[in-house]
Amino acid sequence: MNLNDKNALVTGASTGIGKVIAVELAKHGANVAVNYLRHESEAKNTAEKIEKIGKGALVVRADVSVSGQVDEMVEKVNAEFGSIDILVNNAGIAIDCPVVGMEDQEWEKVLAVNLKGMFYTCRAVGKYMRRQKNGRIVNISSVVAQKGGRGQANYAAGKGGVEAFSRVLAAELAGKGITVNAVAPGVIRTKLTEEVIERVGEQLLSRILLGRFGQPREVAKLVVFLCSDDASYITGQVIGVDGGFGLCF
Ligand code: NAD
Repeated sequence: MNLNDKNALVTGASTGIGKVIAVELAKHGANVAVNYLRHESEAKNTAEKIEKIGKGALVVRADVSVSGQVDEMVEKVNAEFGSIDILVNNAGIAIDCPVVGMEDQEWEKVLAVNLKGMFYTCRAVGKYMRRQKNGRIVNISSVVAQKGGRGQANYAAGKGGVEAFSRVLAAELAGKGITVNAVAPGVIRTKLTEEVIERVGEQLLSRILLGRFGQPREVAKLVVFLCSDDASYITGQVIGVDGGFGLCF
């Protein structure tokens, strides 16, 4: 998979899955803009790893749930790199709470980051990609969109929206040489899942055919493939990386 001369933007790339995706894209030849919100030193660490590989890195702070900040970030990346060929919408949060008892802001915050954030970023980058007549967009969903999870109605609604949105965007951009796909990880070991693995890890494992949790690298490998020319005939798809979560033993 060759991503030489490609320029990528990865949101939420200071930690977890986004960090590994950013570095993996660079390993395959791409320059990468590393978006972050709070973890500046970790974002710089991602950039250092990319530069060590010999590729260009740009650290850009933006809250993806604020459209003005997203527009500024995208303009900056395009000005610096000269194009944006790959967009990975990875930034995401979870605030778990049963529906009865969920505060307005717990609902709104999760949808603002996970769904609105992806819309703002796709809209801003899509304008450039349309002009270039070329591009790859990968939106990170979750197994929770299809399978649900107690206390995760806000998260499931947002990720279900990511999948529906990705199919529509794929149709809208198909004639412009742009593919849009969603990747739905299962339970991957990151900060986001520390607490749930601690609390109900055994129960979760009993639902995973491969009998273990995933690693960020296993998600990143699929994302890189979808961003490459090798995936030229794949668009509008949701692809799971979940070890067979929820299937019958
Ligand atoms: P993580 O917490 O390490 O990564 C999420 C990143 O998004 C963080 O760097 C965070 O700072 C950033 N972020 C949060 N709000 C932001 C905002 N408003 N603007 C910009 N950046 C923001 O967790 P992760 O597990 O690496 O999650 C990455 C993605 O994968 C998320 O979309 C998550 O929903 C999805 N996912 C994770 C799992 C899993 O098991 N870890 C499973 C399915 C889906």
